[in-house]
Order: sequence, then C-alpha cells, then structure tokens
Amino acid sequence: MTIQVVKGCPLPAGQCVGCGNYQPPDKDVIDMDVDVNWGDNLYLCQTCVGVAAGLLGFEHPDVVAKIRADLDQAESAHKAAVEERGVLQQRIDRMLDGAKAKGEAKKARKQ
Ligand SMILES: [Zn+2]
Repeated sequence: MTIQVVKGCPLPAGQCVGCGNYQPPDKDVIDMDVDVNWGDNLYLCQTCVGVAAGLLGFEHPDVVAKIRADLDQAESAHKAAVEERGVLQQRIDRMLDGAKAKGEAKKARKQ
C-alpha cells in the first residue's frame, strides 16, 4: 500500500470517501491506494484530511507555518547574539590583556 498525493480523483469512484465531493483535477487529494466496492479507489480531499488531522491533534498548517516563521526568527536572533558575544569577548580579552600589561609595566617601574 502506497499512500500518495494525486491531482483530483482520477479513477473511479472519482470523489472523496469522507464528504462525497468531487474534486477539481488540479486539486491535491490523498489516494489511499485501497480498493473498495470492487474496483473503486479511496480518495480523501484536503478538507477531510484537515478535519481528521485536527481530531488527531495535529496543528493547522497556518499554525505550523507561524511556528516555523517564529523559529526561523528566533534562530536568526540567536545567531546574531552569538556573533555579538564573540565580538564582545574579543574586546574583553584585549582589555584584560591591556590591563595585565599595564600592571606588569607599573610593577617593573617600581623595581
Ligand atoms: Zn472530503
């Protein structure tokens, strides 16, 4: 059994088994690759798949897209913060090296 996405419902019964609607030939539907009623194919339209997915607790695609966009933005902010931290750490290291050198120079002058 190979569940796949096909355009429309190209083979008999030519309609969604969930709602009974016929689908336009350019519309993606799920072909369950199951024979029913002696030769009919079992198709599920996007609406029925969405309802079933919601009942199973899957998020709506718009929610998933929003979460992905938020994650991309958070990852970009994290990357920028890590880069800024690196620049600041280099500056701190140079300041500490300078302070150490200054302290050593003062110490050498006193001797
Ligand atoms: Zn349907």
